[in-house]
Amino acid sequence: MATEPLAVNGGQPTVAGDFPAWPIYDQNEADALLEVLNSGKWGSTHGDVVATFENEFATHQQTKYASALSNGTLALAAALSAGGVGIGDEVIVPPYTFIATAAAALFVGAVPVFADVLPHNHLLDPEAVKAAITERTKAVIPVHLAGAVADMDAFAAIGREHDLLIIEDGAQATGAAWRGTPVGGLGDIGTFSFQSSKNLTAGEGGAVTSNDEELAQALYSAINVGRVRGGGWYEHQRVGYNLRLTEFQAAVLRVQLSRLDAQQKQRDEAANLLAELLEPIEGVEVDATDERQTAHGRHLFLMRFSAFGGDAAVRDAAVKALSAEGVTGVSGGYVPLHRNEPLVRDAKAIADKLGQPYATPDCPVTDAVSKDSIWLTQPLMLGTTEQVGQIASAISKVVANVDSLR
Ligand SMILES: *Cc1c(COP(=O)(O)O)cnc(C)c1O
Repeated sequence: MATEPLAVNGGQPTVAGDFPAWPIYDQNEADALLEVLNSGKWGSTHGDVVATFENEFATHQQTKYASALSNGTLALAAALSAGGVGIGDEVIVPPYTFIATAAAALFVGAVPVFADVLPHNHLLDPEAVKAAITERTKAVIPVHLAGAVADMDAFAAIGREHDLLIIEDGAQATGAAWRGTPVGGLGDIGTFSFQSSKNLTAGEGGAVTSNDEELAQALYSAINVGRVRGGGWYEHQRVGYNLRLTEFQAAVLRVQLSRLDAQQKQRDEAANLLAELLEPIEGVEVDATDERQTAHGRHLFLMRFSAFGGDAAVRDAAVKALSAEGVTGVSGGYVPLHRNEPLVRDAKAIADKLGQPYATPDCPVTDAVSKDSIWLTQPLMLGTTEQVGQIASAISKVVANVDSLR
């Protein structure tokens, strides 16, 4: 194989030009923000921009109900609380995800229990979930990591069979669909994030979706200090946080939402082309696509590299090498949550106080993928077709020179 020296070793960078800066915005966001400013109605208790966005988001996700809130972390906590999950209940989560998925269980006094992911797509393994179910299990949170949809046929069936609440963590999957149905309506509750890096963003923000009226009411209440729709201002039917989104954020989100589908199409075309270009390169394994997934959210482009021989130090060097080639916005990914000390300590503390057993399970697949995975972040999928080709060339070059990274 031709081995041009890596940019990190003094060679020429492979990628020409910058990728689009994220977020993308124009005068429409400025106008929408000014309109809210001048209305003097800055909060959703007075204005109607949040409510309008909620309707538009529900329409986009094809769910009956959507409520906006402050972020994706507390969306998960609100979902658990609204679903009746509380002290000592067990919540099954993957260990290869953002920390919020597991931390949310602790926020409601519940115990996160880890079940391993699948080796070919980094997503929660239904068989591992089945093995982790106990009499204390109340909920499962499949994460649609990267924008790929977890096996919702299997998780819906597990939910029915064991009477468990299924919460879809769709923080990375706005726009993804399974058998034609968008995420957020495939389980009992869906949660979303509009934090800065996400494909739909207002800097911060989140949403919860459901098709169940009772759950939707409970979600509204969990976000609005225990108030109920149509109830009195000082009528609190449950204990709830104030998790409301501002009218300013909703104004930005409405404009961003109007661009989302076109951006998703562009990311999808780039990702499909990149997968095709990487196919012949030995030592790179692009995440497999489930044929039941009818749309990918394209938040991240995930790959594993057998070329690294399971050595995380080589992977970390490859991330640096790819950045030097001009592939900015590349990452070595998550540190496994079942090895996160504060999470495991707090989970054990709750279980111990209640006299419940708690054992940190083995999650060998998570351990393996956390050593040999590399992610490309979503703005890389908004570059030119030429740049997609250059990303593939950069990856090929790094793999060809892998020995120089050891
Ligand atoms: C971003 C993210 C969250 C948390 O969302 P925030 O809005 O940052 O609190 C939760 N889960 C996953 C998988 C995420 O990527």
